[in-house]
Amino acid sequence: MTVVIEPRTARQLRHPEKQGRPDTPIQRKPQWLRVRAPGSSGYAATRAIVREAGLVTVCEEAGCPNIGECWEKSHATMMIMGEVCTRACGFCNVATGKPAPLDPTEPARVAEAVARMGLKHVVITSVDRDDLADGGARHFAQTVAAIRAAAPAATIEILTPDFLRKKNAAEIAIAARADVFNHNLETVPRLYHSIRPGARYYASLRLLERAKEVNPAQFTKSGLMLGLGESRDEVLQVMDDMRCAGVDFITVGQYLQPSRKHAAVERFVPPEEFKALAAIAYAKGFLMVAASPLTRSSHHAGEDFERLRAARAALDAV
Ligand code: SF4
Repeated sequence: MTVVIEPRTARQLRHPEKQGRPDTPIQRKPQWLRVRAPGSSGYAATRAIVREAGLVTVCEEAGCPNIGECWEKSHATMMIMGEVCTRACGFCNVATGKPAPLDPTEPARVAEAVARMGLKHVVITSVDRDDLADGGARHFAQTVAAIRAAAPAATIEILTPDFLRKKNAAEIAIAARADVFNHNLETVPRLYHSIRPGARYYASLRLLERAKEVNPAQFTKSGLMLGLGESRDEVLQVMDDMRCAGVDFITVGQYLQPSRKHAAVERFVPPEEFKALAAIAYAKGFLMVAASPLTRSSHHAGEDFERLRAARAALDAV
């Protein structure tokens, strides 16, 4: 059956495809997941730059709990290629629908904002663009090139879609030579049919492996959410899979349910369990591990990049 997705207007629902699902009440968060409401002057300054440049951020679109802390430090994760996604993942708050055509001025606008914000490390992500022949890979590459020109000292991390069934797209994105190539596996393979129904676990894993094969000097990074019903053994297996694909850096955080129509939180994983998983991940050979309830792919990405670089240098010195 062909599903025709119409362009989204401001009045439309963010997730029309989820409206037939039963409501799942959102559970009260435990103490360790509560954060201060955003409101500092640094937060306001970042917000002003984002608005003036007409940029979209995953911080806002995904309803990230860390926005107050990150924006206070001028750390925003730019989401390119619009704010409407062609996938309908069970965990994600980014709006679903038919996206607008690509804006050719976007790479330059993003680059200018990076320069204005004086960012040392920038994370660029995107919606999935299954409607484009290359899945948006060229737009990623153009954005990386524009940032290199406008802010040559900044290190760049790209957090990409899976480019599923897009011939040569992965190679185009990898050839952009970002400092970090990040693609999140998100969850264990058993849960893909409900959490990432449009994705394929082994295709995502292969993308990470390909990035390392083509450019071994580029750091690779991937993330997992916990609390969706995965078992500990399944998480450990995913870690092994990532290591087999040469992934350098793993992030592990708690899944939070964005609305009553999204996948339910099966459990809130306590901070001690994240710490134990971090120790195991290091033992499995990851160069860097970030694992805590509030860890997100791009949380503390700048500081983590410095630590990642130092970890590789220390290893090379042995
Ligand atoms: S953790 Fe990432 S997505 Fe969340 S506010 Fe910080 S930069 Fe934005």
